Amino acid sequence: MKKVVYALLSVVLLISCKEEQKEKNDLNAAPIQAVVEAPVLEEFGYNLYDYKVVRDTVRSGDSFGAILDSHGIERSKVFEISNTIRDTFNVAKIVAGKPYTILKSKDTTERAQIFVYQNNAIDYTVIDFTDSIIARKDQKPVKLVEKVASGTIESSLLQTFSDINVNAAVAYKMADIYAWTIDFTRLQVGDRFKVIYNQKFIEDTIPSGIEDIKGVYFEHRGKPIYAFSFVGDTINNVTDYYDENAKNLRRAFLKGPLKFNRVSSRYNLKRRIKYYGYKVRPHRGTDFAGPVGTPIMATSDGIVTKSERRGGNGKYVRIRHNSTYETQYLHMSRQAVKVGDYVRQGDVIGYIGMTGNTGGPHVCYRFWKNGRQVDPFREDLPASKPLEKELQPKFFEHIKPMKAQLDSINFKRQEILL
Ligand SMILES: [Zn+2]
Repeated sequence: MKKVVYALLSVVLLISCKEEQKEKNDLNAAPIQAVVEAPVLEEFGYNLYDYKVVRDTVRSGDSFGAILDSHGIERSKVFEISNTIRDTFNVAKIVAGKPYTILKSKDTTERAQIFVYQNNAIDYTVIDFTDSIIARKDQKPVKLVEKVASGTIESSLLQTFSDINVNAAVAYKMADIYAWTIDFTRLQVGDRFKVIYNQKFIEDTIPSGIEDIKGVYFEHRGKPIYAFSFVGDTINNVTDYYDENAKNLRRAFLKGPLKFNRVSSRYNLKRRIKYYGYKVRPHRGTDFAGPVGTPIMATSDGIVTKSERRGGNGKYVRIRHNSTYETQYLHMSRQAVKVGDYVRQGDVIGYIGMTGNTGGPHVCYRFWKNGRQVDPFREDLPASKPLEKELQPKFFEHIKPMKAQLDSINFKRQEILL
């Protein structure tokens, strides 16, 4: 649906009639101003009523030249257009399946004057060759609509989102926000959430994805964790999520070294293994399973202190994060870093393999705190970058209405439009 704007064309209609001529001095016979509405169907910055509009889609094998040629633009003109606009739009890069619109003059010549290529649902490129050749990139108007939703987990987070009929992108964004504080593969039946988010609409009506999440209340195992978006780094304009006490929800450590962490064996000091006659063989690591070649990520920033192959460890990498914490990643098929490298959280440091003592492809993740091996899943790991003191009053002011709004949302199963 297009936005229809009615421009008011003031047309002065001189009402002349015979009575008027007869009664020249009659005040009632003065000229009457009438207003005639001329419709404007505006799109791409043009009034479509002024043109013959042709809409089509780039077919496979189509070229910019062939399309214009089929609408009566001669080769030399196409060449001139392509050349003139090449800094704005490379005509060789039009892609099959993308919609385009050609605006032609409304007279009998039906001369093609404007070509509009839709790069995606929002962005488009206008090539206007009515007189001189001009190209510009623009965007369809996008409106943000604030929405709220709430739900209770019965099986999985995605199933709950499907049940309450809310875009799954909200679920993914929520999982990102809580990636350090909640293990979304271990949600409990009865965990519940309320969320305030912005949905994008193109030209007021076409839903076009989720812009951002403003605030969340997530209750995991009966423990509520709030999350509020806030620009915590005003220099680089970086938004982070903080709880109601201004604590950053991101942790200095990722929950695990893989993109999709599947724990195959937990840290267990009393592990007994059949192979060793059921003797206690403590497992001072957490095993994450994945196919050979799966990238292994550094769980936090640090300096690589070991990258070698040795005994049961196989090929492994060890990272010193600070004076308190170290991590180690075993059984790699190959390492991607060398001693002395500085790595950032999430950097790929190697790939899953089966080197050393291992029954199957996995990475054994080991964690040291003050030189002692510990279970990172039982540690209350430090938050990354706390919100600066001077920003905190502004933060608490910012979240006050959002928290009140979240608290007022009921756990209904349907989405409510604000
Ligand atoms: Zn292990």
